[in-house]
Amino acid sequence: MQKSLFYFITFLVFTSCSSNETKFTEDDGLAVFNADSLKKHIAVLASDDFMGRKPFTEGETKTVAYLQEQFKQMGLEPGNGESFIQEVPMANILATAAPSMQVKSAKGNFNLKAFDDYIIWTDKTDSSISLNNSELVFAGYGVVAPEYNWNDYAGLDVKGKVVMVMVNDPGFWIGDTTLFKGKAMTYYGRWTYKFEEAARQGAKGCLIIHNTAAASYPFSVQQNSFNTTRLKLDNRGKNIPNCDVIGWVPEKISHQLFAAAGFDSSLLVKANQPGFKAVPLGLQLSTTMNVKASFNKSSNVVAKITGTKRPDEVIIYTAHWDHLGVGRPDQSGDSIYNGALDNASGTAGLLEMARAFKNMKSKPERTIVFLAVTAEEQGLLGSAYYAENPIYPVNKTVANINMDGLNRFGKTKDMVVVGQGQSELEDYLKEAIEKSGGYLSFDTHTEAGYYYRSDHFNFAKVGIPALFANNGVDVVGKGKEYGESLENEYTSKNYHQPSDNYDPITWTGDGAINDLKLLFTIGRRMGFENSFPVWKEGSEFKLIREKSKK
Ligand SMILES: [Zn+2]
Repeated sequence: MQKSLFYFITFLVFTSCSSNETKFTEDDGLAVFNADSLKKHIAVLASDDFMGRKPFTEGETKTVAYLQEQFKQMGLEPGNGESFIQEVPMANILATAAPSMQVKSAKGNFNLKAFDDYIIWTDKTDSSISLNNSELVFAGYGVVAPEYNWNDYAGLDVKGKVVMVMVNDPGFWIGDTTLFKGKAMTYYGRWTYKFEEAARQGAKGCLIIHNTAAASYPFSVQQNSFNTTRLKLDNRGKNIPNCDVIGWVPEKISHQLFAAAGFDSSLLVKANQPGFKAVPLGLQLSTTMNVKASFNKSSNVVAKITGTKRPDEVIIYTAHWDHLGVGRPDQSGDSIYNGALDNASGTAGLLEMARAFKNMKSKPERTIVFLAVTAEEQGLLGSAYYAENPIYPVNKTVANINMDGLNRFGKTKDMVVVGQGQSELEDYLKEAIEKSGGYLSFDTHTEAGYYYRSDHFNFAKVGIPALFANNGVDVVGKGKEYGESLENEYTSKNYHQPSDNYDPITWTGDGAINDLKLLFTIGRRMGFENSFPVWKEGSEFKLIREKSKK
């Protein structure tokens, strides 16, 4: 933020779409933001004492208590009736895989080694799961997308079989925007989708072929979660289909399997062609898993500031408080996945955001909600539960603004919107950032599908315009290359590793504060407006919103 005398002059802003003079001063709330206050919260949440903030651990207890305490101290109201808590019923599933998987082929049998050659788990709660000579079918991308005239399951019966599918979607490798969205990942490219579709098709198992470029992260990220507990929403009695066995194989293992079946890796290329037909490989897989399931409730923490004129209309800020807990140690012996950036920083930002709104001189006319959701790392579960069980009516929810990973270096000239062209919220942010002398950028790693990878996506799925804006990379005085190198370093060295630690020296806080102010500015604007921002033409969420508003 360019501090200038300008800000000492108070002037009134008249919001454009209202006839009544709703007003607040331009600096109202902005001066509250404070890097030391933000950093204090990050230091606590990312401390070893909070043990990586995994749901159902002491780390959760401490985190939830801390967030509630902070909201109370600031004088916020409970966001769920009398309570700051929305309980999220979940199943905690520990699937322990046998050390190997037997592969039978006409050419002979061999074993694959768990962890090195594949990782598997299950979302089911049955105590024992097995594959017994289950047929393996290569089903391309495992996608059924009528709007792209694409069906990898056409004419295929996969009941009782294991499908092996590629990550991402065909547009990724072809790069032709007439094929899906070209390089940009669609929801069809996400691993969650692959498992959901395989289950809908009645497959017994689904193995995704890992490729670092197409998945946008290395296989080791999957290995880190092998034979560890996983959380799901507790869907007992809800009749939601699940495969018995789901997991990943590195691409080289897919080559080995193709070779055993008398094919080669050119199948992976052929699967990019429209009209590709799935290939039964004539291989049979056998292995087992022991499953222990327990059921428990985790917590979303929710606080609010009731609007003065239209309290039933809400703007929801979100950040996931959870991370990965204690797990496999890294080379230095560190086994605590502190998740300082991911997402102690965003959670701290949520607290700082609440403090700023609470300390405004003019009180927002709409209700502002601060929702710290659980179990993002396990598949966006806390936000999924909220979206399925909303505390505030979906059609009166004006917008969601999500924070997942704040700027840990200096101020940037830009902020990066993920999911370009989705909603008018990006225009709000553009206006705000340009006013402050910066500019808006857009996510260039569209192949990674980040719009489907954090909690705002669950709000989008029910039609609520949702903004996900990350820190920029154009670091003031150091430039874009510098910022990009820091980003790449984080992705390769720290992302979901025990080394995602808080460093009070290098984490200056001023960049994060700058970004938080911008996200505050747009929420504040909506807090005084009468209108509802809308999805843009071409967004897959536009129709959902229009239906819910009727
Ligand atoms: Zn994460």
